[in-house]
Amino acid sequence: MDRIVWSYHHGVRPAVEIDTLDELISFNPATGEEIGRVTNSSAEDVADAVARSRTAFQVWRRTSFPERRLLVIKAREVILSELDEIASLISAESGKPFAEAISMEIAPVLDLMQYFARNAEKLLSQVRRGIGIYSLLGRSSKIVYHPLGVVGIIPAWNYPFAIPLGEAAMALMAGNSVVIKPSELTPLVGLKIGEIFKKAGAPKDLVQVVTGDGRTGAALVDAAPDKIMFTGSVATGKKIAKAAAENLTSVVLELGGKDPMIVFADANLELAADAAVWGAFCNAGQSCSSVERLYVEESASERFTSMLIERVKKLKQGVGTGEDISIGAMSSERQLKIVEEHVEHFRREGATIAIGGRRNATAGELFYEPTIITNARNDMHAMQEETFGPTLPVATFKTEKEAIDLANDSEFGLTASVWTKDLRKGKRVAEWIEAGTVTVNEVLYTHGIGQTPWGGFKNSGRGRTHGLEGLMELVQPQHIHVNRIAILPNAWWMPYTPTATKTFRGFAKPAISPNMRPPFTSAMRTGGGSGT
Ligand code: NAD
Repeated sequence: MDRIVWSYHHGVRPAVEIDTLDELISFNPATGEEIGRVTNSSAEDVADAVARSRTAFQVWRRTSFPERRLLVIKAREVILSELDEIASLISAESGKPFAEAISMEIAPVLDLMQYFARNAEKLLSQVRRGIGIYSLLGRSSKIVYHPLGVVGIIPAWNYPFAIPLGEAAMALMAGNSVVIKPSELTPLVGLKIGEIFKKAGAPKDLVQVVTGDGRTGAALVDAAPDKIMFTGSVATGKKIAKAAAENLTSVVLELGGKDPMIVFADANLELAADAAVWGAFCNAGQSCSSVERLYVEESASERFTSMLIERVKKLKQGVGTGEDISIGAMSSERQLKIVEEHVEHFRREGATIAIGGRRNATAGELFYEPTIITNARNDMHAMQEETFGPTLPVATFKTEKEAIDLANDSEFGLTASVWTKDLRKGKRVAEWIEAGTVTVNEVLYTHGIGQTPWGGFKNSGRGRTHGLEGLMELVQPQHIHVNRIAILPNAWWMPYTPTATKTFRGFAKPAISPNMRPPFTSAMRTGGGSGT
């Protein structure tokens, strides 16, 4: 067959028959240079990979935690020994500054890896569960956590290293095997993850990487792995949920965001302005938890907006390899066009472009200037849709309630931040905001904390990654129930009689399990009965 090249140069598909394409070219979005080519895995390749992964799983599931820990720790060592090379690859393939490749991808994922390498055994150890009166009758219950099998990981391009690698490390520590399908915009970073585990001595087929676009991702879902960990857009998340339902494959969906930042007048405004600039513009605004809407209390809005503009003027934009570069290239022409459209919507709907609002042609083809937009309102188109670019629209509020209502007026709910010196107010507001993570006097970075759950409310996702909650997504709990004095038949067994029915009435009273006794609500809050 003729070699037909399928390229995503600057995110633009060439006009060729897609079914005949067999290769993917990776480009540096900042320079337009080709940086490598990879195979476009077919559906058969993917099905084979999943079948081999099942075989690898059968061996890996029997490994001890120290053996798993050794692999993950060795993988860390490989990363540390190639730190600059990996950071350069991430920067070249995604367009992000070299500095961010280290600070926002490599450093946090290394920390996550050590945390789960050290703690997965404890987090997944068998637990006894209090079962009330049944324990007085000689029964006991324990919960054992078993791995699931093959975990399929389908990430986006924006954090092409940290997200799939972190999920893979957690899946491996839980005893699963892994097949990763990186984004078509960052296949080389995906392949690098496979290479790292190989160098660390991973058994054959334990960590595999298949490359290609959405069709390869769809083939991975159709190959019926035991779990899909997906990161990407709401539209693709819906397609995956639908396709996964065919095999009842469970999915974790990490989807989009339109994250609000609320700045009260009593906040440390200088610090909040620094945070807003980083939160909105790091990774050229292409973070799911980017600040995409800023609400500032009206009395502080003028001062605060000037602080933002002052800071933006100092930011250097350019090819990410420069160590003084704060804002790199956008990942693709497609993404940049969305940003242009959204800024145009703001203009047409009466907002003010205070700074930026155009491409930065001197930096290169795919650069967009960091942009502050004032007089934004929630009824504007681009205050509702995810932009995923270096724009920061600013709106105002008068009361605490109004701030909360504006923040919650969105289909998304990934993260949010509240800025105030009054911590009681900050925490109160945080609990009213519909988002998976709300930070008080902090912004964006909590994906970097491996110990805490990550995931969204509303259309920002389903399920969690990271933390105990994320680890629980990668195992299946088994309840082992033992009757150690199995002498007499249970009262609820057959044959049923009027006397038995009378006894059943007694069972129905809230005496059967101490867990169900008042105070009912506080028992619910603390998770029911005591674990012994
Ligand atoms: P996308 O949905 O276009 O693609 C994501 C991945 O899905 C890619 O690997 C793609 O090849 C694959 N894919 C596409 N169609 C598929 C299909 N039918 N079946 C299976 N796989 C398929 O998203 P994107 O443009 O790569 O990423 C940007 C989005 O990701 C943004 O919305 C952003 O908010 C979101 N995101 C969310 C988080 C989070 O943690 N919540 C983190 C990073 C990015």
